[in-house]
Amino acid sequence: MKIAILSQDGSLYSTRRLREAGEEQGHQMRIIPYLRCYMNITSSRPGIIFNGNPLENFDAIIPRIGASRTFYGTAVVRQFEVMGVFSCNESQAISRSRDKLRCLQILAKEGIGLPITGFAHATQDIDGLIETVGGAPLVIKLLEGTQGIGVVLAETYQAAKSVIEAFRGLDANILVQEYIKEAGGADLRCFVIGGKVIAAMKRQGVKGEFRSNLHRGGKAEKIQLSEEEEATALRAAKAMGLNVAGVDLLRSNHGPVLMEVNSSPGLEGIEKATGIDVAGEVINYIVKNAANADTKDNIKY
Ligand code: ADP
Repeated sequence: MKIAILSQDGSLYSTRRLREAGEEQGHQMRIIPYLRCYMNITSSRPGIIFNGNPLENFDAIIPRIGASRTFYGTAVVRQFEVMGVFSCNESQAISRSRDKLRCLQILAKEGIGLPITGFAHATQDIDGLIETVGGAPLVIKLLEGTQGIGVVLAETYQAAKSVIEAFRGLDANILVQEYIKEAGGADLRCFVIGGKVIAAMKRQGVKGEFRSNLHRGGKAEKIQLSEEEEATALRAAKAMGLNVAGVDLLRSNHGPVLMEVNSSPGLEGIEKATGIDVAGEVINYIVKNAANADTKDNIKY
C-alpha cells in the first residue's frame, strides 16, 4: 500500500516509528509536511499539491496534526477524504476531539464518568461557579492548553477565586473541575485502535506535582486495566468517532473518570513503557480497513 503520514517533523519518534512499521510490512511510506501542501478545491478534480507535484494514488493517510495546526491540518485531511483516500482518523473526528469542552459534552451525553465540571467565560458569579464543582480544592483549566500547561490546582477558595478572575481578565474560556485527589498525581493512558485497547500505561507525576504529563517530568509504567477502565476507554473513543485514540482516565473513588481523548496520541511513552509495537498495530488497522474510505461518522455533536 501507499501510505502518507501527515506530519510536520519526520524526526519525531511517532512519525519515525510509523514510517518504520509500515516499511517493515512492505508498504510505501511517505511523510508529508501538511502545512506545505496546497489544495485544489474543485469538484471535477480535487487535488493536493506538494513541492509542485500532485499527491496521487495514496491508499491511506495517517494524520499527525499538531494541536496548534488543527485548522489547516484537518483541511488537508478532509481534502484527502474528498479524494476518496482512507484516513485512520477522520477529519471531523479530529476537529471534534480538539475542542475540550465539546468532548466533555459528548462524553457526558454518553453517560461516561467525568469529574464534575463547570465551564465559563465572563461570569460575574464566580462563587456559583466554584460551588458547582463542590468548592475548593479544585482544578482550573484554560480551554486551549496542552501538555498540562494552563492546568492549575487551586487548594483554597481564595486561590480559586483569584485564578478564575485572572483567567477571566485574559478573555479566556475557563473550565473548572472537581479535583480528583485520590488519583494521587497519576493517570491512565489507554491506547485504542479499532475498538480495542492495545496498550495501557500509568503515568505518575513527579513528587508534589498533581499533573502526570510526561512532558512535565512524569514517569510511565505498563499497567493492567480493570474491565471497567477498558470499557470506559472504548466507549469514549467510540463516542468521539476516533479509530485511533489515546484515552486518559483518572482512578477516582467512584470509578474511572475521563480526562481527555487525544486524536494524535504520542507513541514514544506508550511503546517504551509497554514494549508493544503500537506503530505496527496502527498499520495493521489501516491494512484491514483502507478499502472502505466512506465516512462512518454519524455523531450528532
Ligand atoms: P492537558 O490536556 O494540557 O494535558 P489535562 O486536562 O489532561 O491537560 O491535565 C493534565 C494533568 O493534570 C492530567 O493528566 C492529570 O494528571 C491532572 N489533572 C487534570 N485534571 C485533574 C482533576 N480534575 N483532578 C486531578 N488531576 C487532574
